[in-house]
Amino acid sequence: MTDITELSAVELRDAITAGDISAVAAAEAYLEAIDRIDPRLHAYNEVHRDRAMERASDIDRRLSAGERPGPLAGVPVALKDNLCTAYGRTTCSSAILADYRSPFTATAVRKLEDAGAIVLGKTNLDEFAMGSTTETSATGPTLNPWDTGRVPGGSSGGSAAAVSAGICAAALGSDTGGSIRQPAAFCGVVGFRPTYGRVSRYGVVTYGSSLDQVGPLARDVSDCALLTAAISGHDPADSTSVPADVPDYPATVDTPLENLKIGVVREFLSDSLDADIRQAIDSAAETYASLGAEVREVSLPYSAIDRDDEGNISSHAVACYYIVAMAEASSNLARFDGVHFGHRTAERVRDIVELYSRTRAEGFGDEVKRRVMLGTYTLSAGYYDAYYNKAMKVRRLIHRDFERAFETVDVLLGPVAPTVAYRLGEKADNPLQMYLGDIYTISVNLAGLPGLSIPGGVSKAGLPLGIQLIGPVFSEQTLLRAGHMFEQASGIRRLRPDLAGT
Ligand code: GLN
Repeated sequence: MTDITELSAVELRDAITAGDISAVAAAEAYLEAIDRIDPRLHAYNEVHRDRAMERASDIDRRLSAGERPGPLAGVPVALKDNLCTAYGRTTCSSAILADYRSPFTATAVRKLEDAGAIVLGKTNLDEFAMGSTTETSATGPTLNPWDTGRVPGGSSGGSAAAVSAGICAAALGSDTGGSIRQPAAFCGVVGFRPTYGRVSRYGVVTYGSSLDQVGPLARDVSDCALLTAAISGHDPADSTSVPADVPDYPATVDTPLENLKIGVVREFLSDSLDADIRQAIDSAAETYASLGAEVREVSLPYSAIDRDDEGNISSHAVACYYIVAMAEASSNLARFDGVHFGHRTAERVRDIVELYSRTRAEGFGDEVKRRVMLGTYTLSAGYYDAYYNKAMKVRRLIHRDFERAFETVDVLLGPVAPTVAYRLGEKADNPLQMYLGDIYTISVNLAGLPGLSIPGGVSKAGLPLGIQLIGPVFSEQTLLRAGHMFEQASGIRRLRPDLAGT
């Protein structure tokens, strides 16, 4: 008998649409897998059991009435808990929103459900998506299914772990500086951040408005194409969503790419990169060359890593990202004040200012406080020019680096993160060390580009190795085709952890 949870989203959708598996059986199989596996991982903050079963019966009813419920008919999915849903809670893994119920549903989620997907529940993240490990979550960290002593990456760590452990068929995450791609790499799944503006941000609790984008995490590239097509498109409720046609990604994912030009980013292959990951990139380059692609070296000078005489590393991209992201965060998070949203202090207060400050002191965790304070500092009179304005200039230069690179190549190939998944607690007390781990993902957000993270193999120690493909704006189709081509040629796809030891 087929194990339903082993099927890809495309296979499951086909089986449900053909009547071979019922949507109810699929939802039951996943809910049972969640009961069995999630207590060991904590990928979910909340499971919407009854609603999932009702929606699944509805899909079955529509199928038996001869309707076609959509390209994701009956596929059980998970949602990062910073995507608003008019059912259940939307907590952002923060104490300040612990009981928050949104009055509306995010456009990306609504589109996924309109396509027939069944929402299983909400997944854990770093508080307000600020972090790289899920360790800043107020509900505690998610553990990596490949090794429960390690982090799953972040901030969409719950979604990545859930896909990897087979406790959802696919998931949505958000990516402000790598939060889809890096956890996908740490958990051995595929993660896709589309171009800024491709997917509506309406109903995504904002972290950095100019950087955030919603995207899928899935078992393989075809599944990613399916979800990307479902959630993309213009939304009048988000003025930054682009009114452009959405190509049929699933239909074209198989089309071979003739004469693809691939650029390997010189600055990404420094000695701060794990040897195993470097090797995965070299062999991916060879795979592409054997498929007829032209592989050459390109340069992104502003994404370089500098090392001083004492061995300390720094990067323009990391400095620029953390100034921009924190400035936007400090302004966006001003709304959590105990009046508009969420938790309000139970202490007696003298005035509104004390109400705000006590509420925020109680409700926010340390990392969020650090960012709100640093962001407020860089935006304040006297420092604005030195920090925020300077960062905006560097952002422009980073953008220009990419424009130049894409004059000569179609796709850039590089790592997702400098290391494989590290141990829980290993970087938790060293924010700078943690921020430097975002070095290969954040330039993509600063330039508004799409980036695809795919498994490039497994390390000697048995942990997944992520590789990244980056393209110009709106090159989703090319990236998905290039990712699919690699999966087919290398045979590296649908990696599954051995959960017996967890
Ligand atoms: N790790 C990065 C940060 O902490 C990226 C987070 C994200 O993409 N949401 O800001």
